[in-house]
Amino acid sequence: MGIAGCVAQLYGDSLLKKIPHLDFVLGPRAIPKLPEIISRINLDKIRAVETSYDIEELFDVEPYHRAGEVTAFVSVQQGCNKRCSYCIVPYVRGDEVNRPLEDIITETENLVGKGVREITFIGQTVNSWKHGGFKFGDLLRAAGDVDALQRIRFTTSYPRDITKRMIDAMKDVPQICPHIHLPVQSGSNNVLSKMQRTYTREWYVDTVNRLRDEIVDFAISTDIIVGFPGETDRDFEETMTLLEEIKFESAFSFIYSPRPGTPAAQIVGDACVQKKDASARLSCLQERQSDITFESNNNRVGVIEEVLVEGPSKKDENFVTGRTAQNRIANFRAPELLTGNLVRVKITEGLQNSIRGELVV
Ligand code: SF4
Repeated sequence: MGIAGCVAQLYGDSLLKKIPHLDFVLGPRAIPKLPEIISRINLDKIRAVETSYDIEELFDVEPYHRAGEVTAFVSVQQGCNKRCSYCIVPYVRGDEVNRPLEDIITETENLVGKGVREITFIGQTVNSWKHGGFKFGDLLRAAGDVDALQRIRFTTSYPRDITKRMIDAMKDVPQICPHIHLPVQSGSNNVLSKMQRTYTREWYVDTVNRLRDEIVDFAISTDIIVGFPGETDRDFEETMTLLEEIKFESAFSFIYSPRPGTPAAQIVGDACVQKKDASARLSCLQERQSDITFESNNNRVGVIEEVLVEGPSKKDENFVTGRTAQNRIANFRAPELLTGNLVRVKITEGLQNSIRGELVV
């Protein structure tokens, strides 16, 4: 049993003393080392703590890639310069540090050499990436020049860091998938301001409209927090109306929980939303979003999608699985040897979390 992530980084080995059965405590940077740490625990019967955070070694981690897989993550940024009032990341992981463009492209080329066909650039606010005069749009264009790389994705984007340069790159470079994960967190300006998110609902909606106007067949997923301190019924209602206004293809939603040392964690008492109210809001939101996602998947029936085959389906060996450009999981009957290829699939059925189709030959 272990604890991993930013809070683990903050509390370090004190967690081992507090929780007697805990086997390991890992900071965010040590998560890729998890298999190695588990082997060490099994062999040496130790309790492991990996919370070092040396700036020199910031990007010196194994790429997030398993041998044989055709998709991989490449870290382009660590830390964050924003100060959302609920978030522990800037306190634990420090200010934004961006990796040089050449290093990112070299790692990408190496992965492509190992059979990877889709790269996802990752960073806390990935689209604020800049280095040596280059901006995020330039990084996307440079990745578009990597031979044999078929798809480029990135996550997580910060709404205020969307620029014309980035949108232009997304329009011009065919390998960049027409999808963005763009956390909105709330549909209420009152809550957004308390969260210190630096944009308004109107600004977010305008940005989404701009992306949808400029990029063909564009999909948007998001993160939403409910029950933030001070969130009223009316504030929550505004989040619900935002779901209707934007119709996100999918959304990850959570009940607010305080992180130690953050400004929002200082808010206690009556200003906090009762747990039962927060749970009721989350259920209401998830129920509606689940219908919207199902409808959006269903709307693809009859469309011919391009899918990167990732391998055999875990549920049925006669099927392969992959993702569409808009990041929907697609399952269809096809030989496993198509793994790593972009194929055309005619969608025949929309399900809750995926779509099904037939290979078009
Ligand atoms: S929520 Fe995201 S953007 Fe805000 S401080 Fe945390 S990491 Fe940065």
